[in-house]
Amino acid sequence: MSEPTPNPYLLQVPLYIAGKSPEEAREALGLNDVLKLASNENPLGPSPMAVAALQGALAEAHRYPGIAERDLRRRLAIHLGRGLSENHFIIGNGATDVLRMIAQTFIFGGGETVACRVSFPLFGLLPTMFGGKPILIDPAEDYSIDLDSVLGAVTQDTRIVWLCSPNNPTGIVLTARSVEALLAELPQGVVVVMDESYCDYVDDPSAVDAIEHVVRGRNLIAVRSFSKSAGLANLRVGYGIARPELIEYLMHAVLPFNTGSPAIQAAIASLDDLDYHNHSRQLIQEERAFLFQGLTGLGLRAIASQANFVLAVGVPGGGQWLADQLLQSGVIVRPMRDFGLPDAIRVSVGRREQTERFLAALKGILDTRRSIPPSGSLP
Ligand SMILES: *Cc1c(COP(=O)(O)O)cnc(C)c1O
Repeated sequence: MSEPTPNPYLLQVPLYIAGKSPEEAREALGLNDVLKLASNENPLGPSPMAVAALQGALAEAHRYPGIAERDLRRRLAIHLGRGLSENHFIIGNGATDVLRMIAQTFIFGGGETVACRVSFPLFGLLPTMFGGKPILIDPAEDYSIDLDSVLGAVTQDTRIVWLCSPNNPTGIVLTARSVEALLAELPQGVVVVMDESYCDYVDDPSAVDAIEHVVRGRNLIAVRSFSKSAGLANLRVGYGIARPELIEYLMHAVLPFNTGSPAIQAAIASLDDLDYHNHSRQLIQEERAFLFQGLTGLGLRAIASQANFVLAVGVPGGGQWLADQLLQSGVIVRPMRDFGLPDAIRVSVGRREQTERFLAALKGILDTRRSIPPSGSLP
């Protein structure tokens, strides 16, 4: 019997390796108290209003989702205002599903996309999946996405430019001015994706406002998620915002019933819980400053972040070594090799006592390392 032939493009895409789960760490190391600061989850947990809505919707689990998805688009239009209507939105099974729809819609018969090498890894994987070619440019010296380099990598074959603000894994925002300049130079017909999964944590007034470009009718798709600031990562709800003509193209890439009503009802309820959102935003902004100071106080180089994580670069021993050491102490952080930075770790912002526990473990590791003479220094 001969072997069936799978899609060769698909086989080039490496399997996604998520950050280690607390359950895995507990099993592997026999630890019972594991702290995960690796996937930028909301340390507050979900909004109680979202949980109540989810529970209320479960009795309808035997039914296919009805108009919940349209209700969410209407609620988002009201929530964000600015002349947006339900037709400016598309709902996905997480923001990653929306990114997939965009790649599938605009990459066909080859074609290239441009993204920064130090950004969300999916930007480099999705084009390959659909037979396109991802072009990955280097970041600027300060680790920001270099929009001049992005523009320089655009060719006649470019279909999509993938941007992320605040960028994962650096937490650096793109400025309104620099994006304006990029859009002015970019050839007509190139789709700009602005992944804004962390936009609720931004307090820098110079940051780009993607919706402004949507409202002005540009070829820009903003992508947002309920996984991070709304604390609903396990329910898989995300959305795209674009002018209605672009949304109509994307709708061809939606699989029937791509998100369930319980998840959508929870998302709608979370939009209504303004207290939760304000509390979550304030907590993250305060605690990321504490985490940043803690890292620099221990002599590490940290990048000032507008998201709910902080990147430390040039760490002793390299990212994988340091993450392994921290794991031995029961703290999971994310080594950054898959994000293009083998010498870095990314640490999610937690509650004060969680960050203190992480910093104490880190200090212990760094102190021990300093007390051992570097290999080769002995005669
Ligand atoms: C977490 C994350 C996502 C994934 O969002 P989901 O809604 O959980 O699929 C998308 N983009 C970036 C940059 C992220 O960090």
